Amino acid sequence: MPLPDYHMHTPLCRHAVGEPVDYARRAVEIGLTEIGFSDHSPMRQDNFDNWRMRFDQLDEYVGKVRRAQKDFPQLQIRLALEVDYFPNGEDWIRELAARQPWDYFIGSVHYVSDSWAIDDPQKAVEWKNRDAFEVWQIYFERLTMAAESKLFEIIGHMDLPKKFGHKPGQNCAPLYEKFLDAAKKNNCAIELNTAGLRKECREIYPAGEILQLAFQKKVPITFGSDAHAPGEVGMNFAEAISLARSVGYQEGCRFAQRQRELFKF
Ligand SMILES: [Zn+2]
Ligand SMILES: [Zn+2]
Repeated sequence: MPLPDYHMHTPLCRHAVGEPVDYARRAVEIGLTEIGFSDHSPMRQDNFDNWRMRFDQLDEYVGKVRRAQKDFPQLQIRLALEVDYFPNGEDWIRELAARQPWDYFIGSVHYVSDSWAIDDPQKAVEWKNRDAFEVWQIYFERLTMAAESKLFEIIGHMDLPKKFGHKPGQNCAPLYEKFLDAAKKNNCAIELNTAGLRKECREIYPAGEILQLAFQKKVPITFGSDAHAPGEVGMNFAEAISLARSVGYQEGCRFAQRQRELFKF
């Protein structure tokens, strides 16, 4: 069975190309049977940053996904969001959740403060002023809170701070374990996100040794290309399957109306 690709974007986020129908067409072309759109969610303030849809575009987003569902009835298309987690930002996420019959929310931490998104290429220079271990600690503290919030079915790109190739010298295993314990306890899946292979780190998120810990703790997984262009749909999924199998996984999960179902691969 082909894997569902649960992480893809649309031009509404201002840094992706191709409409949902184009991603769906590509998915059918490469033999996928299920995909999910998870564009960057709006913030309460539209001017918070410049890489997400505005709040007044949320209905347009849903309309574009519905259009793809109509045009490609042979493909299961899920309606979702990649939502930025902020401590104290939980009310806003609940408001978003209540607005549409979402299939799932991917909770992601991009920001380790209100002004710095660690994966933003335009702000990558900030890494020079920071101690990598300190960034890892803040990031994983937030990621653990995201899992504990119970607002998300899936946590996105678990080891995102490695994106530009930074790695602390310290042992980070306790940070990973604390997060994974929270994910397991709160019924949260993590994604195998192949976009890391296209970044400086040249590695799937999360790294093999982290995925091994996740398997030991029985944390469920999903698969996502994090496509920002139709040609990236399902990209490097063969590598993702072999990584998952190499640590012991034989099952992934899918979501409809925020309910989880397992599938074998
Ligand atoms: Zn993006
Ligand atoms: Zn992301």
